[in-house]
Amino acid sequence: MSKAIQITAIKGMNDILPPESARWEWLESIVRRVMAEYAYRNVRTPVMESTQLFTRGLGEVTDIVEKEMYSFQDRQDKHGDADHLSLRPENTAGLVRAVAEHNLLYDGGKRLYYMGPMFRRERPQRGRYRQFHQIGAEALGFRGPEVDAELILLAVALWRELGIQNWRLELNSLGQPDERREHRAALIAYLEAHADQLDEDARRRLHSNPLRILDTKNPAMQALVEGAPQLIDYLGDASRRHFEAVQAILAANGVEWRINPRLVRGLDYYNLTVFEFITESLGAQGTICGGGRYDYLIEQIGGKPAPAVGWALGVERVLELLKEEGVHILDPVPDAYAVIPDAAALPQAMRLLNQLRALGVAVQMHAGTAEGMGSMKGQFKKADGSGARFALIFGADELAVGEVTVKALRDGAGAQTRQSLAEPSVWADILKSTA
Ligand code: ATP
Ligand code: MG
Repeated sequence: MSKAIQITAIKGMNDILPPESARWEWLESIVRRVMAEYAYRNVRTPVMESTQLFTRGLGEVTDIVEKEMYSFQDRQDKHGDADHLSLRPENTAGLVRAVAEHNLLYDGGKRLYYMGPMFRRERPQRGRYRQFHQIGAEALGFRGPEVDAELILLAVALWRELGIQNWRLELNSLGQPDERREHRAALIAYLEAHADQLDEDARRRLHSNPLRILDTKNPAMQALVEGAPQLIDYLGDASRRHFEAVQAILAANGVEWRINPRLVRGLDYYNLTVFEFITESLGAQGTICGGGRYDYLIEQIGGKPAPAVGWALGVERVLELLKEEGVHILDPVPDAYAVIPDAAALPQAMRLLNQLRALGVAVQMHAGTAEGMGSMKGQFKKADGSGARFALIFGADELAVGEVTVKALRDGAGAQTRQSLAEPSVWADILKSTA
């Protein structure tokens, strides 16, 4: 028989394994706590949606819809019809679909958050993957600038709780559709006058989506976009007041920002406030979080019109940044390791271990082989390797008198006591980490 070819993961899609996975769990637990503090509630939508949701929601002429989506046709049903499906490239469209579909806004605004994998067929590189993870917060049904500010403060609170220091906040206002139309005309006129300097993407987008040209990553076009008409100069009074109100709240909360008139964000659905959190520590993939207001998305996908604002952060980039900043995250270790010299002790030992676990003690049990439990020396080596602070020794002598030996492996290593099997609740606390 020939040797089977080893199957590997898909390029740009990563396994997240220990000890790295502990960093993910740690980050997620902090996110859950901060979301609860701001009264944002969790939603989970499917990773697959109708392709239409994204073509309509994100805009046909966006990087994502033009070239990054994983789309396919489902099998035909008995009428010969087949759905066009896509793996979600982001979660705002899906969340908005769910909010509209279940009429969640019937009794007022909702504050929601999600975490999960997203899929984009980009060129894999550091900070850019084909399956990556986003955490997002969205407030729907609120029109006021205070909610824009609240979401930004929520992100700032997250950076603080995670211990991330190296970030800056960039803000812009994209105004309202009529203001954008006026700016768009001026922008097209400007870009047409410099048509010779446009790259292929820009030429294609000149009439379909000129705003997106300002978002270009092509260094050769930087000077051109620097000189382009700025949306911020086309804002009417209401848009300007909204933008100023957001900034006043940030200022009162000690948050610094910089206005970037060229910040337009990658998706079509934004209006008024847009923002990005950017770090210098990650090279080209420096945007760790981006968002803004999207008051027209819900009706665009067929829901009852309602204002909304939100952001999404890239989990891989945030974790990479934590590493760059030297934020130390403790690898979880068991409190105790159970050393079991003889398999005959297993039933009694495992009964006690489960009682300890129910009391909140993390216990790793030594597991043997078909031949037996293995030497004491080997078991103690495993106990040390586990990082546990105590060994629980279930020797025949101890068990005979209804006891177990508790031996310190770290602080005061070697010190040992005997404890009663009958009443673990009396002594379980000595095993628990106080750190
Ligand atoms: P970029 O300009 O870096 O491509 P984007 O504007 O496409 O980002 P958004 O759609 O706003 O990104 O997604 C929000 C966040 O998700 C980004 O700021 C980034 O941190 C993260 N992100 C986006 N695409 C990827 C990816 N392919 N791999 C890892 N993280 C990503
Ligand atoms: Mg992108």
